[in-house]
Amino acid sequence: MDILLTNDDGIQALGLRALYRALTRAGHRVHVVAPVTEQSAVGHAVTMSLPLRVREFSESDFFGLGVSGTPADCVKLGLTTLLDQPPDLVVSGINSGANVGVDILYSGTVSAATEGALMSVPALAVSVDDFKPRDLSGQAEYCAGLIPGIPWAEVPEKTILNLNFPSCPVAQAGPLVVCPHTRVSYRDWYVERLDPRGNPYYWLEGVIPPDRISPGKDRALLSQGHVTLTPLRFDFNDQATLDLLRARLGLD
Ligand code: MN
Repeated sequence: MDILLTNDDGIQALGLRALYRALTRAGHRVHVVAPVTEQSAVGHAVTMSLPLRVREFSESDFFGLGVSGTPADCVKLGLTTLLDQPPDLVVSGINSGANVGVDILYSGTVSAATEGALMSVPALAVSVDDFKPRDLSGQAEYCAGLIPGIPWAEVPEKTILNLNFPSCPVAQAGPLVVCPHTRVSYRDWYVERLDPRGNPYYWLEGVIPPDRISPGKDRALLSQGHVTLTPLRFDFNDQATLDLLRARLGLD
């Protein structure tokens, strides 16, 4: 396959490099277009008022294009301009940190995959439930093994697949489960500290409340050590509320 590989942790990130090696070794043609700097939690932002610069990262065992923008920028620029022909698949990751539940909205990793799907290219987002992974070669090999078995032609347009690995080594992970995402929102708080000039600054912390995590969905299964695969479709329509509003506003 021709694969556009991107991420939100930046072109130097461990997870992207691991996927590059595994996918290349599996015989795929891997085209890397990834942010030069870390873009975690930028969501689906696109750059509208700054130029995008592209820089080659040419190394003995790696070649990729680094973009001075967001993950969605990378996919847009890659698909419209930098690649000679459309790839068969967009792969985004492997992200350091799980992307489950509402993370999907904040995640640059998932948004890059979504951008691929919006541009009619099948897409896979990949994350690991570990903010400081030291070796993702096992997870990358697992991805390379999984990709050929996915019925990509039958995945509807504007649907992406969101794969999450548990924090343990892949050899110790539970079986793959296909499951929905949790709908629980984060409980957020900000740590207040003082900068060197004595002025306060704020740093976001948050957790998906463990007591509200529903069983059978991605967050719970991931915590139990499963590898989770969740199809996500871009469709924010709410038919029930649409019908309700039409009725209440007398617009039937
Ligand atoms: Mn990230």
